[in-house]
This record gives sequence, structure tokens and C-alpha cells, in this order.
Amino acid sequence: MRFEFATATRIVFGRGALSALEVTITPLGCRALLVHGRSAARAEPLRERLAATGLGCLTLGIEGEPTVDAVRRGAAAAREADVDVVVAVGGGSAIDAGKAIAALCGNDGDVLDYLEFVGRGRPLERPPLPFVAIPTTAGTGSEVTRNAVLASPEHRVKASLRSALMLPRVAIVDPDMLLGLPPAVTAASGLDAFAQLLEPYVSVRANPLVDALCREGLVRSARSLRRAFEGDVGPAVREDLALASLFGGLALANAGLGAVHGFAAPVGGMFDAPHGAACAALLPAVVRVNVRALERRAAGSVSLARYREIAAIVCGSPDATIADGVQWIESLVLALGIPGLRRHGAREDDVPALVAKARSASSMKGNPIELLDDELREIVLASL
Ligand SMILES: [Zn+2]
Repeated sequence: MRFEFATATRIVFGRGALSALEVTITPLGCRALLVHGRSAARAEPLRERLAATGLGCLTLGIEGEPTVDAVRRGAAAAREADVDVVVAVGGGSAIDAGKAIAALCGNDGDVLDYLEFVGRGRPLERPPLPFVAIPTTAGTGSEVTRNAVLASPEHRVKASLRSALMLPRVAIVDPDMLLGLPPAVTAASGLDAFAQLLEPYVSVRANPLVDALCREGLVRSARSLRRAFEGDVGPAVREDLALASLFGGLALANAGLGAVHGFAAPVGGMFDAPHGAACAALLPAVVRVNVRALERRAAGSVSLARYREIAAIVCGSPDATIADGVQWIESLVLALGIPGLRRHGAREDDVPALVAKARSASSMKGNPIELLDDELREIVLASL
């Protein structure tokens, strides 16, 4: 056994955790860049609190998932204003944007110098600016990961800026921030978190430290996601979803992912499909095809036993079979009203391109078994 585990320097979790904001930020600098998502109004109370500490505060709104261009412009503004700490509040998009901007402010050159696949993929030479992440959705776990996913519309792909140096300085995870999320966002981001707990647990890079996080996260996600979607946003449910998301981030950053995320990257690059919605649409078919491939070609594999454990966790019964687990996942995705990939513009004609791009996606390397082209095609067709 051999593994390594790295995460944010400090994680502050719990209802009211946001009260740690001022004492967290003030030692980190005098000028902050506050990155937020679509709603500037949502970030305004934070801006006021930061300003009240005497901190100079520049704000930057990110519309939708961050592009190479948006990050380039954000980094230019932050360098110009000479900021010395970056704070991001929002979903995965705002946090990834802030994380990427913090990385570029600590390093010379353009975003494409460092971006994987479509850029030059150079390693970061110096640490990013201190970065504080405050998630407002329970999905990506980006507050504890070492990469930022950026869209490059001209290449029709999403690619990561990635470095162990990019792990956030502080993650403030306050379940009360989840209040007021639309049900569709709860569904898509919650299923992304679920996939980020399931995929590392069956990954070829699984390790005992991550296993414990995945089991605990799966229990919480399984018991609370449907309830949240149906309108129960009580404190216990919010806490479960926030923890499931955080644990998913810890897990994926240290044990990798699999075919759900292997496909989600090209789907998100080729179509206007938010990450969570893409993962949610792909999840049932990936699990079904992976299980069948393992049964056919690796019947004694540890991963297959792990799918059985997942079935027992989600069904709440030690006697649950893998088929029961697959069925449970399919009915959850259905109950949460997740549309197929067709809704985002994918068609049968796109299958070959999606399969080719998924094959080379970095997440695919964690999948518990190498899938055949027919199996990859089957996943896309079943997810349309
Ligand atoms: Zn994800």
C-alpha cells in the first residue's frame, strides 16, 4: 500500500463557520479580490464585511463556468490592483475561477502557459496568492482540490490548471450557505458530489484514508439528497449535503475519478452543459456498464466488491445486491428530474467525438476497468 494525501491548509466546517471570515482573511493581506458567481447581491454582505475590516476589496463576477478568457481578464485586473489575497464565494465555477486567478497572480505569463492539453502545461513555479474558498453549493468540492477547470470555447474542451500548490489556504464550509438554492441546482450539484464519492471509492487509486471519507459521504448523500430536492432543507439535511460535497472533493483530489468525469469533461466542452448536470446524466449508465464490464472481465476484482458495499450503503441493507444499488441510483437520478444529454444539445452524431475525447480525459485513468469502445459508445447513447 502506498498513498499520499493533501488538502487545503485549513478547513473550517459548520453552521456559522462564515463567522471565521474576518480573522481568517486579515492576516493574509491588505487588498483582496472577491470572486463571485452570477449574483452580485449574494456576495455583497461578504464584500461589506471584508471592507469593514479595512481591507481594500475588488470584486469580480463570473458568469457561468469560467473560460480561459474570463480568468485571463480576472488575473490582469488582480495584478493591476496589486491584490494579495483572493477570496471566492459561490459554486464550483466561482471557486475554480478564483483558484486559477490566485495561481496566475503568483506566477508570470498567460493562463495558456500552464493549462493542460490545450495550453503548454508548464508546472507552476511559484505558490499562488493565498486563496480562501467559500462554497455556496454542495457539489464540486473545489474548496479542497488542487485544480481549476476552465473552458476553452475555441477548442470545445474543458481543461485544468493543476498543481499541488493550488490547494486552497482556507476552505470555509458553512451549510447555512446552501439556503435558498433552486431544487435543480441541489439535484445536479448533489449528484455530482455523489459521483465524486462513488468514483474514488471504486477507483484504481483508492486508498484507506479516502475510503473512510467516501463511505461516510455516501451515507450522508444517500439519506439526504432526495429529501433536500423534495424541499426539506433543515439543518441536518444541509449539513449532510455540505459534508458529502466536502468529502467528495477530498476523495477525488487524492484518489482520482472515473468514466462519469471522463465523459463530463468533453460533454461540458462541446455543449453548454453545467458540470453537475452532465455528471448526473452520465452516472446511471456508467455504473451499469462498469459493473457489467467488471463481471465479464474481472469478476474477482476489489472494485466489484466495492460496488456491492455501495449498494448496501445506499439501499440501507447489508443484503442489497449490486443490481439493487444500480437500480437505486437510476431511480434517484429519475426522481431528481435530471434531463438526458440531448437537452444540452448532444446527438447520436456526437458519439464518436465524445468517445475519443473521453478516452484521453485525465479522469478516465481512475476508472476501475478499461472500457471498450462499444461500452463507451453505449454509455453516451444511454445518457442521451
Ligand atoms: Zn464532478
